[in-house]
Amino acid sequence: MNYEKLKEHYDNTIRPSKKFYSMSPVNDLGLLYTEFLEKLIICFAKYNEKYPEHDIYVVETYRSNELQRKYYKERKSKIRMNGMHHFGIAADVAFYIDGEFTYRGNYDFLRKIFKEEGLTVLNWELGHVQMIPVSEQGELRNALI
Ligand SMILES: [Zn+2]
Repeated sequence: MNYEKLKEHYDNTIRPSKKFYSMSPVNDLGLLYTEFLEKLIICFAKYNEKYPEHDIYVVETYRSNELQRKYYKERKSKIRMNGMHHFGIAADVAFYIDGEFTYRGNYDFLRKIFKEEGLTVLNWELGHVQMIPVSEQGELRNALI
Protein backbone atom coordinates (compact mmCIF):
# COMPACT_ATOMS: atom_id res chain seq x y z
CA MET A 1 0.00 0.00 0.00
CA ASN A 2 0.98 3.63 -0.49
CA TYR A 3 2.22 4.73 2.93
CA GLU A 4 3.18 8.16 1.61
CA LYS A 5 -0.43 8.98 0.73
CA LEU A 6 -1.59 7.55 4.03
CA LYS A 7 0.98 9.63 5.89
CA GLU A 8 -0.36 12.73 4.13
CA HIS A 9 -3.84 11.81 5.33
CA TYR A 10 -2.58 11.31 8.87
CA ASP A 11 -0.55 14.52 8.96
CA ASN A 12 -2.95 16.79 7.07
CA THR A 13 -6.40 15.50 8.05
CA ILE A 14 -6.17 13.47 11.24
CA ARG A 15 -3.53 15.31 13.27
CA PRO A 16 -5.07 18.81 12.84
CA SER A 17 -8.58 17.49 13.56
CA LYS A 18 -10.41 18.72 16.66
CA LYS A 19 -11.09 15.07 17.39
CA PHE A 20 -7.43 14.05 17.52
CA TYR A 21 -7.57 13.66 21.32
CA SER A 22 -11.27 12.79 21.56
CA MET A 23 -12.20 10.64 24.55
CA SER A 24 -15.57 9.80 23.04
CA PRO A 25 -16.06 7.51 20.03
CA VAL A 26 -15.82 9.28 16.68
CA ASN A 27 -17.89 8.22 13.69
CA ASP A 28 -16.86 11.00 11.34
CA LEU A 29 -16.42 9.46 7.88
CA GLY A 30 -14.27 12.43 6.86
CA LEU A 31 -11.44 11.11 9.01
CA LEU A 32 -11.26 7.85 7.05
CA TYR A 33 -8.62 7.47 4.38
CA THR A 34 -10.43 8.12 1.10
CA GLU A 35 -9.41 4.89 -0.59
CA PHE A 36 -10.68 2.92 2.41
CA LEU A 37 -13.94 4.87 2.61
CA GLU A 38 -14.57 4.28 -1.09
CA LYS A 39 -14.16 0.54 -0.59
CA LEU A 40 -16.52 0.57 2.38
CA ILE A 41 -19.16 2.33 0.32
CA ILE A 42 -18.86 -0.32 -2.40
CA CYS A 43 -19.20 -3.09 0.21
CA PHE A 44 -22.23 -1.48 1.84
CA ALA A 45 -23.90 -1.13 -1.57
CA LYS A 46 -23.29 -4.81 -2.31
CA TYR A 47 -24.74 -5.77 1.06
CA ASN A 48 -27.79 -3.59 0.42
CA GLU A 49 -28.45 -5.30 -2.91
CA LYS A 50 -29.37 -8.36 -0.85
CA TYR A 51 -30.70 -6.58 2.25
CA PRO A 52 -32.13 -3.26 1.13
CA GLU A 53 -34.01 -2.93 4.44
CA HIS A 54 -30.79 -2.98 6.52
CA ASP A 55 -29.00 0.33 6.97
CA ILE A 56 -25.35 -0.13 7.81
CA TYR A 57 -24.29 2.17 10.57
CA VAL A 58 -20.65 3.12 11.11
CA VAL A 59 -20.23 3.17 14.87
CA GLU A 60 -16.60 4.21 15.05
CA THR A 61 -14.01 5.45 12.54
CA TYR A 62 -11.02 7.37 13.90
CA ARG A 63 -9.91 6.59 17.45
CA SER A 64 -7.56 8.71 19.56
CA ASN A 65 -4.75 7.01 21.43
CA GLU A 66 -6.30 8.31 24.64
CA LEU A 67 -9.55 6.45 23.93
CA GLN A 68 -7.60 3.42 22.71
CA ARG A 69 -5.80 3.27 26.05
CA LYS A 70 -9.13 3.47 27.89
CA TYR A 71 -10.49 0.56 25.82
CA TYR A 72 -7.32 -1.39 26.53
CA LYS A 73 -7.65 -0.85 30.27
CA GLU A 74 -11.29 -1.91 30.11
CA ARG A 75 -10.25 -4.96 28.09
CA LYS A 76 -12.41 -3.86 25.18
CA SER A 77 -9.38 -3.90 22.92
CA LYS A 78 -6.17 -5.89 22.72
CA ILE A 79 -3.98 -2.98 21.72
CA ARG A 80 -2.74 -0.07 23.78
CA MET A 81 -2.18 2.53 21.07
CA ASN A 82 -1.79 3.22 17.35
CA GLY A 83 -4.45 0.77 16.27
CA MET A 84 -5.65 0.94 12.69
CA HIS A 85 -8.55 3.19 13.76
CA HIS A 86 -5.99 5.81 14.72
CA PHE A 87 -4.83 6.12 11.10
CA GLY A 88 -8.31 6.26 9.57
CA ILE A 89 -8.10 2.85 7.98
CA ALA A 90 -10.48 0.90 10.23
CA ALA A 91 -14.19 1.08 10.98
CA ASP A 92 -16.63 -0.66 13.30
CA VAL A 93 -20.03 -1.26 11.79
CA ALA A 94 -23.47 -2.18 13.07
CA PHE A 95 -26.96 -1.99 11.61
CA TYR A 96 -30.11 0.07 11.76
CA ILE A 97 -33.08 -2.17 11.11
CA ASP A 98 -36.81 -1.56 11.70
CA GLY A 99 -36.12 1.74 13.35
CA GLU A 100 -33.51 0.52 15.75
CA PHE A 101 -29.80 0.26 16.14
CA THR A 102 -28.82 -3.43 16.23
CA TYR A 103 -26.09 -6.01 15.75
CA ARG A 104 -28.60 -8.39 14.17
CA GLY A 105 -27.67 -7.80 10.55
CA ASN A 106 -26.00 -10.50 8.48
CA TYR A 107 -22.39 -10.05 9.56
CA ASP A 108 -21.29 -13.26 7.83
CA PHE A 109 -22.45 -11.93 4.50
CA LEU A 110 -21.02 -8.45 5.08
CA ARG A 111 -17.64 -9.85 6.18
CA LYS A 112 -17.56 -12.05 3.09
CA ILE A 113 -18.01 -8.94 0.95
CA PHE A 114 -15.28 -7.09 2.86
CA LYS A 115 -12.87 -9.94 2.15
CA GLU A 116 -13.84 -10.12 -1.52
CA GLU A 117 -13.00 -6.41 -1.78
CA GLY A 118 -9.56 -7.01 -0.29
CA LEU A 119 -10.28 -5.65 3.18
CA THR A 120 -9.35 -7.42 6.42
CA VAL A 121 -11.72 -8.63 9.12
CA LEU A 122 -10.70 -9.92 12.55
CA ASN A 123 -11.84 -13.19 14.08
CA TRP A 124 -12.14 -11.60 17.52
CA GLU A 125 -14.11 -8.47 16.55
CA LEU A 126 -17.27 -9.06 14.55
CA GLY A 127 -18.04 -5.53 13.39
CA HIS A 128 -14.47 -4.45 12.69
CA VAL A 129 -13.03 -4.01 9.21
CA GLN A 130 -9.66 -2.57 8.23
CA MET A 131 -7.72 -1.78 5.11
CA ILE A 132 -4.56 -3.83 5.64
CA PRO A 133 -3.75 -7.30 7.00
CA VAL A 134 -2.61 -7.56 10.62
CA SER A 135 0.81 -8.71 9.35
CA GLU A 136 1.42 -5.29 7.75
CA GLN A 137 0.48 -3.19 10.77
CA GLY A 138 4.03 -2.96 12.13
CA GLU A 139 5.40 -1.71 8.83
CA LEU A 140 2.64 0.87 8.61
CA ARG A 141 3.32 2.23 12.10
CA ASN A 142 7.03 2.53 11.29
CA ALA A 143 6.24 4.43 8.10
CA LEU A 144 3.87 6.88 9.77
CA ILE A 145 5.19 7.65 13.21
ZN1 LIG B 1 -12.49 -1.73 15.38
